[in-house]
Amino acid sequence: MNILTFDTEEWYYEKTVRDAREWKYKQFDELLDRLLAALDRRGLKATFFCIGKMATDFPHVVKKIHAAGHEIGCHSHVHTWMNKLTPEEALADTRQAVDALEQLTGEKVKSYRAPAFSVGETNTWFFEVLAECGITRDASVFPASRELGGFQSYGSAVPATIQYGNAVIHEFPVNTIRLLGKNLVCTGGGYFRIFPYWLIRHLLNDCDYMMYYFHLSDLLDEKRPRLTREQYERYFNESGTFLNRWKRQIKTNIGVADAFAKLEHLLDSVQFVNVDKADVLTDWIDMRTIQL
Ligand SMILES: [Zn+2]
Repeated sequence: MNILTFDTEEWYYEKTVRDAREWKYKQFDELLDRLLAALDRRGLKATFFCIGKMATDFPHVVKKIHAAGHEIGCHSHVHTWMNKLTPEEALADTRQAVDALEQLTGEKVKSYRAPAFSVGETNTWFFEVLAECGITRDASVFPASRELGGFQSYGSAVPATIQYGNAVIHEFPVNTIRLLGKNLVCTGGGYFRIFPYWLIRHLLNDCDYMMYYFHLSDLLDEKRPRLTREQYERYFNESGTFLNRWKRQIKTNIGVADAFAKLEHLLDSVQFVNVDKADVLTDWIDMRTIQL
């Protein structure tokens, strides 16, 4: 099973961190049109995890995605990492986001992805927060160690039912592969851009389950300028040292030139479903249950 997801926050990021440049909004609008057309041509439905602020500040974007028949999932309200919030703050943030998205589309939001996979052993209360907001499916687990949390005790990267108190969530983790002693994700983000297409296919050859995730900006064919210290701290809520900003700069710019073409190649060769459909297709009786 191959699941196709897109995290959607670019317009809001431009508005709050950059300079709300009109041409930039237009560029994102055009990129989205191009992406929706590419999916439509192949009859594919994806899940777009949108931040709540996209629904309130850029409703035309969320409406357009929804009108094209894709699932609207939640990607937090203002893209704050879960491991930086208290349970109370996380609940308020999630509720606000889900309300905004549901009001706009008139449809229940059932799927969630935390910004930057920021869920791990230290904030397992997160699953209770989701359940309280009516979420039944999550795609936030990175089942290996990483800079921002990581959820090592989750075990192998296949779907599982997570139980936390009375909360029951169907989890769709991201895949990790072991390469040169590191746990990498090449179904999205930096490594999808760095690795050539044949290598990605080769690395993922043996996997029955694959979770692909992209940010729209991953598909833009242009270099992004380095953030100022102030811009970085406003958005990422951590110290904007030269090193931190430099690392982010490398991560966001590497391999941007042919990412859209690579994605189209992938869409042609892999059968994809969205999270909604994957939930229906998964035989949950046969999957693990993880008690937290
Ligand atoms: Zn995101």
